[in-house]
Amino acid sequence: MSAEKKTLLITGGSRGIGAAICRQANRAGYRVAVNYVSNQAAADVLVAELKAAGGDAFAVKGDVGNEADVIAMFEAVDRVFGQLDAFVNNAGIVDLKARVDEMSAERLERMMRINVVGSFLCAREAVKRVSTRHGGKGGAIVNISSAAARLGSPGEYVDYAASKGAIDTLTIGLAREVALEGIRVNAVSPGIIETEIHASGGQPDRVTRMQDMLPMKRAGTADEVASAVLYLLSDAASYITGAILNVSGGR
Ligand code: NAP
Repeated sequence: MSAEKKTLLITGGSRGIGAAICRQANRAGYRVAVNYVSNQAAADVLVAELKAAGGDAFAVKGDVGNEADVIAMFEAVDRVFGQLDAFVNNAGIVDLKARVDEMSAERLERMMRINVVGSFLCAREAVKRVSTRHGGKGGAIVNISSAAARLGSPGEYVDYAASKGAIDTLTIGLAREVALEGIRVNAVSPGIIETEIHASGGQPDRVTRMQDMLPMKRAGTADEVASAVLYLLSDAASYITGAILNVSGGR
């Protein structure tokens, strides 16, 4: 594999939006590290597909909500790729539909640990490798937020919405913190996208149920989100940092 190819690590890259980002990054010539947490089969199938398409990819297991796993994941990238150019904070969870007055501390701690603390820990490890302040060559970070951060998700999952509000703030603050260190930090904020996340939150019919309420009367695709991520990672977005790009079909 050519040494000058850019490298990308993406959390939760094995399925859904993450997998679409992996495929587009592979086509754009990145070497891709695909993180997953439990479904090894899905990660292995994707990595085999990327390699069959001529790419250089590997799967790395790790829970972003676990600090030791996060460190081990970035060290695996150091070992296999030697350097990191781009990082996508994509792994995220929803929980079952509930009102705030029904949420347990355990639920809230899990939501914040994975969606917020996990994203911060991963951003920390990425900056330590990419920032010129730490001897890196510079690069780009994209965080995956959600339209929920603007809408609040009442009656559904305000905890998730608040966790994505934190991702927007991380994006703005980190972008300004490292603006002189060769790193651009942006977010993509998807609306309702067709993936398995809705079933994992106990609402497999969520897309069908809600699509008539959407301005375009349809959900978005993972590929439509991935295109925005690839743009923000690319040199075409060289003067864009701290931006939160809605990919929500007008929602
Ligand atoms: P998805 O289809 O449920 O896929 C989730 C991915 O994240 C899987 O690869 C999963 O790995 C991984 N993952 C879950 N928990 C993890 C953890 N603790 N550590 C590491 N990896 C973990 O989700 P998606 O719909 O593609 O969502 C991706 C991102 O987009 C999330 O941040 C989500 O909040 C955001 N988003 C989604 C929508 C939407 O409508 N789909 C809308 C707005 C924002 P395994 O396969 O091993 O489980």
